Amino acid sequence: MLHPLLSTLAPPTGSRLELAAEAIAVKIRWVGLVVGFLLANFGPAGNLLALNVILVLGIGFTAINTAFFWRNRVFLRDHPLIISAMEALFIGLLCYYETGLDSPFRFYYLLSLICCAIRYSPRITFVTCGLDTFSYGTLYAFADAQPNTIPVFLLTVVLLIWATWAASAMARLLKRTEEELRNLNLALTENQGQLETRITERTRELEESQAQVLHQEKMAAFGLLAAGIAHEVGNPLTSISNVVQMLERRDPDEYTRTKLALVTGQLVRIQNTLRELVTFSRPASDIRGKVSTGDVIEEALGIAKYYKGGKNRNIVARIPDDLPALVGVRDQLVQVIFNLVLNAIDATGKGGSIVVQAERQGNHVEWSVADDGLGIDPAVQPRLFRPYFTTKKQGTGLGLFVIRNIVEAHGGSVRVESQLGQGTTFRVLLPVKNAELASAERGNRSGTILEGTEIR
Ligand code: ADP
Repeated sequence: MLHPLLSTLAPPTGSRLELAAEAIAVKIRWVGLVVGFLLANFGPAGNLLALNVILVLGIGFTAINTAFFWRNRVFLRDHPLIISAMEALFIGLLCYYETGLDSPFRFYYLLSLICCAIRYSPRITFVTCGLDTFSYGTLYAFADAQPNTIPVFLLTVVLLIWATWAASAMARLLKRTEEELRNLNLALTENQGQLETRITERTRELEESQAQVLHQEKMAAFGLLAAGIAHEVGNPLTSISNVVQMLERRDPDEYTRTKLALVTGQLVRIQNTLRELVTFSRPASDIRGKVSTGDVIEEALGIAKYYKGGKNRNIVARIPDDLPALVGVRDQLVQVIFNLVLNAIDATGKGGSIVVQAERQGNHVEWSVADDGLGIDPAVQPRLFRPYFTTKKQGTGLGLFVIRNIVEAHGGSVRVESQLGQGTTFRVLLPVKNAELASAERGNRSGTILEGTEIR
């Protein structure tokens, strides 16, 4: 822990570049001190005691500096000129107590300037150069006049200015490179983020289209099977029907007539069932047209009742007569109600209640399928419409996903309300505006709108 007073002299942590520059400065100072001791004790004559005292003070300063650096801090970071002034004084004193103007310690000014340039702005470096020149100038004022005093003084000052310019230019180049690298790094991170978002999006799209394909394949297989059964059962059925009609024409007795009527009734039922199966399993049309809510619900329920358990549920449809027509793909809209009713059948037990309703809501028609079944755990509700989400042993998790896609493609929305253990209601909101516009347009263009549509 740093002393609170010392902490105020340095920011919490230095930037990477500042710390790298500080590392160089600390090393230069330690080397300077070692060389200083050698010069003081083995070099030209001077005041040995004074020189050693000054160097020991230098060791203290550098030790504090190093301690800050080890804690990733820069000593006196916000007060660089204090350091410059101390160094100018320190070097001036070393020169003074050594041999004066021509002391080898005068080259320490150059090191001080280089340290300053790599850490601070060129402005600070030039001010430091001024402080060093002042320090050296003071030395000149105290120096005994010698023949070489003026040339040495002038040459040293020129060297100081030269070193300041060169070191500042190189430091500026270094800092600019660092800034460019930082900007490039930022751009790279940003690009990486964008790339990751794009990959996530593409993966989701791929998953959704895979789910769509899987569902279509399932429906196609089901359609093929249903058409096959209808064909196989249809032919013998026609033969039976022909035989019954033939017997009826032979003026049978009362008992036989009643029984034949019974058979005819059952035959009609089977034929209706087959017709519904065939209608439902015909290749899905994607032609948009005017669609009646009543027809859609009737067709969907007509098929759903053959689903396992469908007959044991109490399925009620409440459709007002005055509902406006919708514009959409009839087969797809049938599928919406069909899937919702199948889910409701799965969620309810024997005798369970399923209510299919429709009502106008302003510019929309709302269809709802409510059941008094298991209900849905609130924790899983946000995942219901994702592909492959299922809680059923044999489920595909595609029903609600397909519903949402169909409804959204029709400009509508779907939502769920559910209470665990009490039941679930799915609400599908579809716009009627299109249908009204369509009929208005049809009026204008005398029946030529909605090309290729089937208007029921
Ligand atoms: P699947 O029916 O193949 O599981 P769906 O996408 O149709 O796929 O349904 C996903 C899940 O939503 C179901 O597994 C079930 O947990 C839940 N779910 C849908 N409808 C109902 C409902 N009416 N009551 C309770 N849970 C339902």
